[in-house]
Amino acid sequence: MNPELVSLVDTHCHLTLDTFEKDRRKVIERALKEGVQRIVVPGIDIQSSREAVELAGEYPGLYAAVGVHPHRADTWNTTVAEELVQLSQAKSVVAIGEIGLDFYRNFTARDVQLRAFHAQLELASQCMLPVIIHNRDAINEIVDDLLPWSATLDESLAHRAGVLHAYSADLSEALRMIDAGFYLGIAGPITYKNGAELRDLLTKVPVTRLVVETDSPYLSPDPHRGQRNEPGNVKYVADRLANGLKLDYAETARLTSENAAGLFGWAYATN
Ligand SMILES: [Zn+2]
Repeated sequence: MNPELVSLVDTHCHLTLDTFEKDRRKVIERALKEGVQRIVVPGIDIQSSREAVELAGEYPGLYAAVGVHPHRADTWNTTVAEELVQLSQAKSVVAIGEIGLDFYRNFTARDVQLRAFHAQLELASQCMLPVIIHNRDAINEIVDDLLPWSATLDESLAHRAGVLHAYSADLSEALRMIDAGFYLGIAGPITYKNGAELRDLLTKVPVTRLVVETDSPYLSPDPHRGQRNEPGNVKYVADRLANGLKLDYAETARLTSENAAGLFGWAYATN
Protein backbone atom coordinates (compact mmCIF):
# COMPACT_ATOMS: atom_id res chain seq x y z
CA MET A 1 0.00 0.00 0.00
CA ASN A 2 1.20 3.49 -0.78
CA PRO A 3 2.22 5.00 2.56
CA GLU A 4 1.58 8.49 1.23
CA LEU A 5 -1.62 9.92 2.68
CA VAL A 6 -4.30 10.29 0.02
CA SER A 7 -7.85 11.36 0.57
CA LEU A 8 -10.63 8.78 0.68
CA VAL A 9 -14.39 8.91 1.12
CA ASP A 10 -16.24 6.35 3.24
CA THR A 11 -19.63 6.51 1.53
CA HIS A 12 -21.49 4.32 4.06
CA CYS A 13 -20.74 4.27 7.77
CA HIS A 14 -23.23 3.78 10.64
CA LEU A 15 -21.52 6.03 13.17
CA THR A 16 -24.75 6.65 15.09
CA LEU A 17 -24.99 3.07 16.34
CA ASP A 18 -24.47 2.28 20.04
CA THR A 19 -21.31 0.33 19.35
CA PHE A 20 -19.58 3.71 18.76
CA GLU A 21 -21.11 5.32 21.86
CA LYS A 22 -17.92 5.27 23.95
CA ASP A 23 -15.28 6.17 21.37
CA ARG A 24 -17.06 7.87 18.46
CA ARG A 25 -14.75 10.89 18.52
CA LYS A 26 -11.63 8.71 18.51
CA VAL A 27 -12.99 6.60 15.65
CA ILE A 28 -13.56 9.77 13.59
CA GLU A 29 -10.10 11.11 14.48
CA ARG A 30 -8.48 7.82 13.48
CA ALA A 31 -10.29 7.95 10.15
CA LEU A 32 -9.03 11.49 9.53
CA LYS A 33 -5.49 10.30 10.24
CA GLU A 34 -5.97 7.58 7.62
CA GLY A 35 -6.87 10.28 5.09
CA VAL A 36 -10.64 9.73 5.14
CA GLN A 37 -11.73 13.20 4.15
CA ARG A 38 -15.47 12.59 4.04
CA ILE A 39 -17.84 10.11 5.70
CA VAL A 40 -21.51 9.61 4.86
CA VAL A 41 -23.62 8.45 7.81
CA PRO A 42 -26.97 6.91 6.78
CA GLY A 43 -29.95 6.68 9.09
CA ILE A 44 -31.87 3.43 9.52
CA ASP A 45 -34.99 4.90 11.13
CA ILE A 46 -36.23 8.32 12.18
CA GLN A 47 -34.21 8.44 15.42
CA SER A 48 -30.89 7.48 13.79
CA SER A 49 -31.65 9.88 10.92
CA ARG A 50 -31.97 12.72 13.44
CA GLU A 51 -28.73 11.61 15.08
CA ALA A 52 -26.92 11.40 11.73
CA VAL A 53 -27.89 15.01 10.93
CA GLU A 54 -26.81 16.11 14.40
CA LEU A 55 -23.47 14.31 14.15
CA ALA A 56 -22.82 15.72 10.67
CA GLY A 57 -23.39 19.18 12.12
CA GLU A 58 -20.61 18.60 14.66
CA TYR A 59 -17.80 17.49 12.37
CA PRO A 60 -16.65 19.00 9.10
CA GLY A 61 -16.33 16.17 6.59
CA LEU A 62 -19.27 14.26 8.03
CA TYR A 63 -22.46 14.09 5.96
CA ALA A 64 -25.83 12.50 6.66
CA ALA A 65 -28.41 10.49 4.77
CA VAL A 66 -31.91 10.18 6.18
CA GLY A 67 -34.24 7.25 5.67
CA VAL A 68 -35.93 4.12 6.99
CA HIS A 69 -34.11 0.80 6.44
CA PRO A 70 -36.13 -2.26 5.30
CA HIS A 71 -35.52 -3.86 8.72
CA ARG A 72 -37.38 -0.91 10.26
CA ALA A 73 -40.02 -0.56 7.54
CA ASP A 74 -42.81 -1.24 10.05
CA THR A 75 -42.05 2.18 11.59
CA TRP A 76 -42.95 3.95 8.33
CA ASN A 77 -45.87 6.38 8.47
CA THR A 78 -46.81 9.89 7.30
CA THR A 79 -45.35 11.57 10.41
CA VAL A 80 -42.00 9.91 9.73
CA ALA A 81 -42.25 10.93 6.08
CA GLU A 82 -42.86 14.57 7.02
CA GLU A 83 -39.95 14.65 9.44
CA LEU A 84 -37.62 13.08 6.86
CA VAL A 85 -38.50 15.86 4.43
CA GLN A 86 -37.73 18.41 7.14
CA LEU A 87 -34.43 16.74 8.06
CA SER A 88 -33.44 16.55 4.41
CA GLN A 89 -33.29 20.36 4.27
CA ALA A 90 -30.14 20.40 6.43
CA LYS A 91 -27.04 21.33 4.45
CA SER A 92 -25.23 18.17 5.55
CA VAL A 93 -27.89 15.83 4.10
CA VAL A 94 -26.68 14.36 0.82
CA ALA A 95 -29.05 11.43 0.23
CA ILE A 96 -32.19 9.55 1.22
CA GLY A 97 -31.05 6.30 2.83
CA GLU A 98 -30.59 3.73 3.86
CA ILE A 99 -33.66 2.39 2.09
CA GLY A 100 -34.33 -0.77 0.10
CA LEU A 101 -35.47 -4.36 0.40
CA ASP A 102 -34.21 -7.30 2.46
CA PHE A 103 -35.94 -10.55 1.50
CA TYR A 104 -33.21 -12.59 3.22
CA ARG A 105 -33.80 -11.70 6.84
CA ASN A 106 -37.41 -10.57 6.32
CA PHE A 107 -37.50 -8.69 9.64
CA THR A 108 -40.59 -6.96 8.29
CA ALA A 109 -43.19 -8.31 5.88
CA ARG A 110 -42.49 -7.86 2.16
CA ASP A 111 -45.50 -5.66 1.47
CA VAL A 112 -44.51 -3.42 4.40
CA GLN A 113 -40.96 -3.13 3.02
CA LEU A 114 -42.24 -2.35 -0.46
CA ARG A 115 -44.57 0.35 0.81
CA ALA A 116 -41.79 2.16 2.73
CA PHE A 117 -39.39 1.73 -0.20
CA HIS A 118 -41.75 3.15 -2.81
CA ALA A 119 -42.76 6.05 -0.59
CA GLN A 120 -39.11 6.97 0.04
CA LEU A 121 -38.22 6.83 -3.65
CA GLU A 122 -40.99 9.34 -4.21
CA LEU A 123 -39.67 11.44 -1.36
CA ALA A 124 -36.13 11.39 -2.78
CA SER A 125 -37.24 12.75 -6.14
CA GLN A 126 -39.26 15.47 -4.40
CA CYS A 127 -36.23 16.41 -2.27
CA MET A 128 -33.92 16.15 -5.31
CA LEU A 129 -31.59 13.77 -3.50
CA PRO A 130 -29.98 10.49 -4.61
CA VAL A 131 -30.85 7.27 -2.77
CA ILE A 132 -28.68 4.81 -0.81
CA ILE A 133 -29.98 1.32 -1.52
CA HIS A 134 -29.79 -1.79 0.66
CA ASN A 135 -30.42 -5.06 -1.16
CA ARG A 136 -30.44 -8.59 0.17
CA ASP A 137 -31.98 -11.29 -2.01
CA ALA A 138 -34.19 -8.72 -3.70
CA ILE A 139 -32.17 -7.44 -6.67
CA ASN A 140 -34.90 -8.26 -9.22
CA GLU A 141 -37.55 -6.34 -7.32
CA ILE A 142 -35.12 -3.48 -6.74
CA VAL A 143 -34.15 -3.24 -10.41
CA ASP A 144 -37.84 -3.40 -11.39
CA ASP A 145 -38.59 -0.48 -9.06
CA LEU A 146 -35.50 1.64 -9.65
CA LEU A 147 -35.49 1.56 -13.44
CA PRO A 148 -38.87 3.29 -13.94
CA TRP A 149 -38.23 5.57 -10.96
CA SER A 150 -34.86 6.78 -12.25
CA ALA A 151 -36.38 7.42 -15.68
CA THR A 152 -38.66 10.06 -14.13
CA LEU A 153 -35.88 12.01 -12.44
CA ASP A 154 -34.96 15.58 -13.22
CA GLU A 155 -31.93 15.87 -15.50
CA SER A 156 -29.78 17.21 -12.67
CA LEU A 157 -30.36 14.06 -10.60
CA ALA A 158 -30.66 11.44 -13.34
CA HIS A 159 -26.89 10.85 -13.67
CA ARG A 160 -26.53 10.49 -9.88
CA ALA A 161 -29.72 8.64 -9.00
CA GLY A 162 -28.12 6.75 -6.13
CA VAL A 163 -25.80 4.00 -4.98
CA LEU A 164 -26.31 0.27 -4.54
CA HIS A 165 -24.40 -0.03 -1.30
CA ALA A 166 -22.14 -3.04 -0.56
CA TYR A 167 -22.91 -4.36 -4.03
CA SER A 168 -23.08 -8.15 -4.23
CA ALA A 169 -25.42 -9.06 -7.09
CA ASP A 170 -24.60 -10.01 -10.70
CA LEU A 171 -22.85 -8.15 -13.51
CA SER A 172 -25.95 -7.81 -15.70
CA GLU A 173 -27.88 -6.02 -12.93
CA ALA A 174 -24.86 -3.86 -12.15
CA LEU A 175 -24.65 -2.71 -15.75
CA ARG A 176 -28.36 -2.01 -15.98
CA MET A 177 -28.29 0.06 -12.82
CA ILE A 178 -25.18 1.96 -13.93
CA ASP A 179 -26.94 2.74 -17.20
CA ALA A 180 -29.82 4.12 -15.15
CA GLY A 181 -27.53 6.57 -13.31
CA PHE A 182 -26.48 4.51 -10.29
CA TYR A 183 -23.13 3.89 -8.63
CA LEU A 184 -21.88 0.70 -6.97
CA GLY A 185 -20.67 0.85 -3.36
CA ILE A 186 -17.71 -1.47 -2.77
CA ALA A 187 -17.22 -2.75 0.76
CA GLY A 188 -15.16 -5.23 2.80
CA PRO A 189 -16.21 -8.41 0.92
CA ILE A 190 -13.90 -7.41 -1.94
CA THR A 191 -11.00 -8.28 0.41
CA TYR A 192 -12.33 -11.73 1.35
CA LYS A 193 -11.01 -15.02 0.03
CA ASN A 194 -14.43 -15.79 -1.43
CA GLY A 195 -14.64 -12.33 -3.06
CA ALA A 196 -13.20 -13.47 -6.39
CA GLU A 197 -16.51 -13.12 -8.25
CA LEU A 198 -16.98 -9.57 -7.01
CA ARG A 199 -13.38 -8.67 -7.87
CA ASP A 200 -13.91 -10.01 -11.36
CA LEU A 201 -17.18 -8.09 -11.78
CA LEU A 202 -15.46 -4.84 -10.88
CA THR A 203 -13.08 -5.14 -13.82
CA LYS A 204 -16.11 -5.19 -16.15
CA VAL A 205 -17.93 -2.05 -15.04
CA PRO A 206 -16.95 1.59 -15.68
CA VAL A 207 -14.51 2.72 -13.00
CA THR A 208 -16.27 6.11 -13.00
CA ARG A 209 -19.23 4.43 -11.24
CA LEU A 210 -17.41 2.90 -8.26
CA VAL A 211 -17.31 4.29 -4.74
CA VAL A 212 -15.81 2.74 -1.60
CA GLU A 213 -17.38 2.26 1.81
CA THR A 214 -16.94 0.38 5.09
CA ASP A 215 -20.58 -0.19 6.19
CA SER A 216 -19.13 0.17 9.70
CA PRO A 217 -19.56 -1.46 12.17
CA TYR A 218 -20.29 -4.38 9.80
CA LEU A 219 -18.35 -6.06 6.97
CA SER A 220 -14.83 -5.51 8.34
CA PRO A 221 -12.27 -5.99 5.59
CA ASP A 222 -9.34 -8.33 5.90
CA PRO A 223 -7.15 -8.16 7.97
CA HIS A 224 -9.75 -7.00 10.52
CA ARG A 225 -12.52 -9.44 9.65
CA GLY A 226 -14.55 -10.38 12.72
CA GLN A 227 -13.80 -7.11 14.53
CA ARG A 228 -15.93 -3.98 14.73
CA ASN A 229 -15.40 -2.09 11.49
CA GLU A 230 -14.56 1.62 11.41
CA PRO A 231 -14.21 4.28 8.69
CA GLY A 232 -10.38 4.28 8.78
CA ASN A 233 -10.54 0.76 7.34
CA VAL A 234 -11.85 2.01 4.00
CA LYS A 235 -8.19 2.08 2.89
CA TYR A 236 -8.18 -1.75 2.76
CA VAL A 237 -11.15 -1.69 0.40
CA ALA A 238 -9.51 0.95 -1.82
CA ASP A 239 -6.24 -1.01 -1.81
CA ARG A 240 -7.92 -4.24 -2.93
CA LEU A 241 -9.87 -2.35 -5.57
CA ALA A 242 -6.66 -0.74 -6.87
CA ASN A 243 -5.08 -4.16 -7.05
CA GLY A 244 -8.02 -5.64 -8.98
CA LEU A 245 -8.20 -2.72 -11.42
CA LYS A 246 -4.40 -2.64 -11.84
CA LEU A 247 -4.33 1.01 -10.87
CA ASP A 248 -2.13 2.49 -8.22
CA TYR A 249 -3.54 3.16 -4.80
CA ALA A 250 -3.40 6.97 -4.98
CA GLU A 251 -5.13 6.97 -8.36
CA THR A 252 -7.88 4.67 -7.06
CA ALA A 253 -8.40 6.86 -4.00
CA ARG A 254 -8.61 9.95 -6.20
CA LEU A 255 -11.02 8.32 -8.65
CA THR A 256 -13.39 6.90 -6.05
CA SER A 257 -13.38 10.20 -4.14
CA GLU A 258 -14.21 12.04 -7.34
CA ASN A 259 -17.02 9.56 -8.03
CA ALA A 260 -18.38 10.06 -4.51
CA ALA A 261 -18.29 13.82 -5.11
CA GLY A 262 -20.34 13.32 -8.28
CA LEU A 263 -22.83 11.08 -6.50
CA PHE A 264 -23.37 13.28 -3.46
CA GLY A 265 -23.10 16.62 -5.26
CA TRP A 266 -19.82 17.93 -3.77
CA ALA A 267 -17.39 19.94 -5.78
CA TYR A 268 -14.35 17.72 -5.46
CA ALA A 269 -11.33 19.18 -3.69
CA THR A 270 -8.19 17.36 -2.60
CA ASN A 271 -7.78 19.37 0.56
ZN1 LIG B 1 -25.90 0.14 6.02
